[in-house]
Amino acid sequence: MFSFPDVNQVIFLEGHYSIPIVILSLLIACLASFTALSMHERMKSNSFFPRYVWLTLASLCMGFGIWSMHFIGMCAYMLPIKMEYNKLLTMLSVLPAMIASFLAFYTSSLPKQSMKTYSISGIMMGLGISSMHYIGMKAMMMDAEYVYHFGYFILSIFIAITVSFASLYIFGRLHVYMVNFFYKCMAAILMGSAIASMHYTGMHAVKYYIASTVNIDEKHFHQMNMTFFSTVVAAGIIMMLISAIISSIMDRYVDYRLNYFDALTKLPNRRQFEKTLKINSFSKRLAILHLHEMEKWNSMYGYSFGDKVIQYISLLCERLKPIGVELYRIEGNRIVFIGNKESWKELLVELRNISTILSNPIAINEQLVIVKTAIAISEFCEKNNGKTMYDQALAVLSHPSTVYEHTIIAFDPAVHFQSVEYQVLQDIDAAMAENDLYIVYQPKIAVCNEKMVGVEALLRWNHPIYGFLSPGIFIPELEKNGKMMDVTDWVVNEVCKQIIAWKEAGMEMQVSVNIPGPYVTSSRLLSVLKQSIQYYGIKPELLELEMTETSAVSNIEGAIQSVEKFRSCGFSVALDDFGTGVSSLSYLKRLPVTTLKIDKSFVDGVPESQKDSEIMKAIISLGHSLELNIVIEGVESKEQVDFLTSISGCEMIQGYYYAKPMKAEDLEGWVRCKEVEMQNV
Ligand code: C2E
Ligand code: MG
Ligand code: MG
Repeated sequence: MFSFPDVNQVIFLEGHYSIPIVILSLLIACLASFTALSMHERMKSNSFFPRYVWLTLASLCMGFGIWSMHFIGMCAYMLPIKMEYNKLLTMLSVLPAMIASFLAFYTSSLPKQSMKTYSISGIMMGLGISSMHYIGMKAMMMDAEYVYHFGYFILSIFIAITVSFASLYIFGRLHVYMVNFFYKCMAAILMGSAIASMHYTGMHAVKYYIASTVNIDEKHFHQMNMTFFSTVVAAGIIMMLISAIISSIMDRYVDYRLNYFDALTKLPNRRQFEKTLKINSFSKRLAILHLHEMEKWNSMYGYSFGDKVIQYISLLCERLKPIGVELYRIEGNRIVFIGNKESWKELLVELRNISTILSNPIAINEQLVIVKTAIAISEFCEKNNGKTMYDQALAVLSHPSTVYEHTIIAFDPAVHFQSVEYQVLQDIDAAMAENDLYIVYQPKIAVCNEKMVGVEALLRWNHPIYGFLSPGIFIPELEKNGKMMDVTDWVVNEVCKQIIAWKEAGMEMQVSVNIPGPYVTSSRLLSVLKQSIQYYGIKPELLELEMTETSAVSNIEGAIQSVEKFRSCGFSVALDDFGTGVSSLSYLKRLPVTTLKIDKSFVDGVPESQKDSEIMKAIISLGHSLELNIVIEGVESKEQVDFLTSISGCEMIQGYYYAKPMKAEDLEGWVRCKEVEMQNV
């Protein structure tokens, strides 16, 4: 293989390259690499098809790409002898390229990547390309013999490994940038060059010769047969690559359908609807068809019956909707119509038609049913805001006056604005921005020396229409609608700002912030807290987080983990309203809180009720034995204070007896007065 014959007995043949075919071979290599890398990338992202489908496709593409590059490259080299290929070896030679591509892509797609995995992938890919090449060379059948130059032979393998490693490394490391067409092209060109440079170095390593006694027939160049061959190879490969690209596009399309369309009705779903609503100037009109009591049909006749009802109604809507009106299935039992000004009148007529048709029995599975409906419409909104229009239609549907008897009701501010819940949700963002929402602070006093030891931050809302709103009204509403997290972030920020302001005024104290139940276990909360204290330069000990006992118990494992994290970051954690939930001692033992806040209901009967007094004593001594700080909430009278002083060590009291919650500026005055009072005693 490497030993050169006696130069006196042989004639070495000189061939030459056809440049266009060389370029074609290079193009094929790059195109195959691009497709393979695209599919490899698809495998890493969430796809409708399983990962191994993409891995196999990527390997097929790459394998065929390497293989066809080789044979097209062979065609580019013209020798004055006749050359044919052994069909079996030609076909078998594709296998090492495919297997190596599979292994290389598999390794480079493992979740943990290191220099080692990239090297292994590069070596496998390089060896695959080289073995394909040299098996392909073995498939040649001709009158000439050939021999390899050892140095170039080794160099060709080395090049294949190094450039494969480089392109896989770049592709893996710059994975996030591969969505960028330019970067992906660069990686593909590099990979294509790995294949081509290996091939042409390998070709340089080979020397063809014939015995000096044999006559060379200069007319027998093999390029004519080979042109046909290369055309077939190129066409086949291009077809395969195109189909691979199409399958990738199809996959994206399937993903898109799954994400943005409802499987049952094939209508665009809520996600798509929300996208539409976000369009800046929403100069459209909107109606929601609500199917009432769908649960009834589901529970009476089963879910497939319910599905058929919905399909029937969605088909009816599609059939009757005027041109230009869009339909969305935003919830199981709600279909939205979005129309423009021009189609609106026509749509209203059709909505009436739909209502009338549905007020009569419809036949589903030979069963006659009447599905009650209401259609809420929202025609006008000052700011052309899609979200407001949608909220208006929702306000109609949730209003107590709305009956589900095939009615069509237009949003009327005079009627539907009356819905406090609706208004609360509408106005909360503006309230935060315009300080209608504000914080008051209630002092906590140490029983033993009557000094203020901290404050609790409590929300207040001075609503422009409803006036003062109690947190008991708006907080549950905001919690129900997932808005309380944003509000809590706002509270944390306001409190941090206030802590700094007080610090500058010479008052450093801990502030407790109430955290709504589901937010306690959210990772967002911890990062908001960390960011806020970092931004304002506050010590974490100055913030205490209050979580209610009920919310802790509802997800005890999550709560324990979160409290541990808060504590490890230096924040204090209090268990609020203690005694109103399950008050389980086993939970209390596992929850690493710093403080127990005993609920007001236990103080109310103290000291008159002996039972309440005993319970209070028991809770306080329980807190002591667990080495927890204790805050007693809702203390209103001197008798209560006297009783607590008599039984306790140095607990804290928070109650109207000492101070009601007050605005920050009032608190400063209150603290100064208290100081003067203390000095005079
Ligand atoms: P909480 O956290 O247990 O707050 C203590 C409540 O008891 C406050 O009511 C406070 O004004 C009231 N209180 C304190 N001392 C006395 C007293 O001597 N007598 C009486 N009758 N009441 C007293 P508020 O401000 O109405 O807050 C009620 C609840 O609303 C709070 O209970 C808390 O669960 C929630 N809340 C208030 N602000 C926030 C907040 O910023 N975020 C969250 N998530 N919840 C908050
Ligand atoms: Mg509280
Ligand atoms: Mg409380």
